[in-house]
Amino acid sequence: MFKKIVVAYDGSDHSKAALEQAVALAVAFDSIVWVVHVYPRAFDLLSYSELERLVAQREAKGQDVLREARQHYSTQSLDVREELLEGPEAEAILSVADTRDADLIIMGTRGFSALQGLLLGSVSQKVLHHARCPVMVVR
Ligand code: ATP
Ligand code: MG
Repeated sequence: MFKKIVVAYDGSDHSKAALEQAVALAVAFDSIVWVVHVYPRAFDLLSYSELERLVAQREAKGQDVLREARQHYSTQSLDVREELLEGPEAEAILSVADTRDADLIIMGTRGFSALQGLLLGSVSQKVLHHARCPVMVVR
């Protein structure tokens, strides 16, 4: 059970809690963990060279987020792998879960958005709606 865990990480405190949960489960179940970070898709009306530059910038920022995530698991002797993908977010997270044949997705209830009142952000709602494996939503 829970041998292949996908955790969605955007750098928010909620996603940090999700990553900590993933690490705890991976220790208990000896699981492989995929930390997924998605950067926004750049499909603006830009020239090719501008687009290339924008994607490179976003990729570099995404690498920074993944590097920061390592602080939460580097001390553990776990099999943790990283996936950096272009958005849209929910689709990218679901595609990693499918490709890796995950048996659990872990994510935060919310991310960075400051909208009060809503229990779930749009990314967690979409993933919950379409996932083909159990989803753990961490508060
Ligand atoms: P919204 O984005 O809908 O305005 P929000 O930012 O509060 O609201 P979500 O984006 O749905 O909420 O975030 C919920 C969880 O989804 C996060 O804790 C994280 O686990 C995951 N998530 C969100 N964005 C990303 C991303 N870019 N890459 C990886 N995981 C993400
Ligand atoms: Mg968000």
